[in-house]
Amino acid sequence: MDYVLETNNLTKKYRRYPALNELNMHVPKGAIYGLVGKNGAGKTTLIRLICGLQEPTSGSFTLYLQENGSQSIANARRRMGAVVETPSIFLNMTAEDNLKQQSMILGLPSYEGIPELLKLVGLENTGKKKARNFSLGMKQRLGIAVALVGDPDFLMLDEPINGLDPQGIVEMRELILKLNRERQVTVLISSHILDELSRLATHYGILDNGRMVLELSAAELESKFRSCVCMEVSDTAVLARVLDSMNVEYKILTATTANVFAKTNVTRLAAALEQEGCEILSMREKDESLESFFLSLVGGGDHA
Ligand code: ATP
Repeated sequence: MDYVLETNNLTKKYRRYPALNELNMHVPKGAIYGLVGKNGAGKTTLIRLICGLQEPTSGSFTLYLQENGSQSIANARRRMGAVVETPSIFLNMTAEDNLKQQSMILGLPSYEGIPELLKLVGLENTGKKKARNFSLGMKQRLGIAVALVGDPDFLMLDEPINGLDPQGIVEMRELILKLNRERQVTVLISSHILDELSRLATHYGILDNGRMVLELSAAELESKFRSCVCMEVSDTAVLARVLDSMNVEYKILTATTANVFAKTNVTRLAAALEQEGCEILSMREKDESLESFFLSLVGGGDHA
C-alpha cells in the first residue's frame, strides 16, 4: 500500500513527559484518516511534528517517502496543507484577500485559482465582509481554503469541528468529503469524537497517552459492530434450530431469550418460527456505540 505518511517509533518528550511515545502510524494515499484520542492524547503534537513546527525527540517519519531531517522533506511539505489549532487567517481581511495574501507568501505567480477555491469552501458570496465577522464555521472553512492555496494533495486538520454548530458540522463534513472524492486529497482529521469521524473516515488511528492503541480501516471497524438483535421467543431451542438452518450466528441467553448476530431477514425468520410453532414475543436491536468501543480501548478516565 502507498502511504502518504508513515511514522516509525516517533517520540516527542516535553522535559521527561512523552507526549508521543514510540508512535507508529500509517496514512494510506486517498484515505480520510481519523486520528482519535482524548484531550491530551498527543494529536496536536503529532500534527505539529509533521508540519515541522517542532522536532521529534527520537524516531522518525516519512512524508511522501521523504524522511524527516532529509533535505527533500521541504519538497514533501509543499504537497501538504494543515490547519493546526486555530486557522491562520487575517481577521481584518476579506476571504479573497486572505487567499491572495497566502498566494503571495507561497510566491505563486497568479491569483487565478482563488475564485474556485472560495466556491469550493462555500465563501464565494462573502464580498467585502471581513473575516472577523465570519461565523466560526466560515472561519474554519477559510482556514482550510488558505491551507489549500498551494494545491496540496494531503491536508491535516486539527479538530476541525470543535465548537461548530450542527449546520457548521454538516458543512465541514461535506467539504472534507468533496476534497477527498473530487480532488483526491488525502485528509488526516484529529478529533476526540469517534462517532463524528465515523461519518467520513475510511481509516482510523486510536491514540492514547501518546501511543497508537489500534489502527484499523472503516470496514474492519464496521465488522466489529455487527448488529445484534435481542429476541424473546416462546422456546429458544426451536429458535436455535431455525437459526442453524439459516446459517445465522446467535447466543442463547435463557430458555426464552437469545442474541442474534448479523442482519437477518425478519420476515423469513418469523415465517420459519411460526411453522415450527415458536412465537416471537419481542425483538430489540442492540447497538454498541462507537463511543463505548473507543472508551473500552482508551479507558474512561481523563489523563490530560
Ligand atoms: P487536545 O485535544 O487537548 O489539544 P491533544 O491530543 O492534541 O489534546 P497535545 O496537545 O498533543 O494533545 O498534548 C499532549 C500532551 O503533551 C498533553 O499532556 C500536553 O499537556 C502536553 N504538552 C503539549 N504541548 C506541550 C508543551 N509545549 N510543553 C509541555 N507539555 C506539553
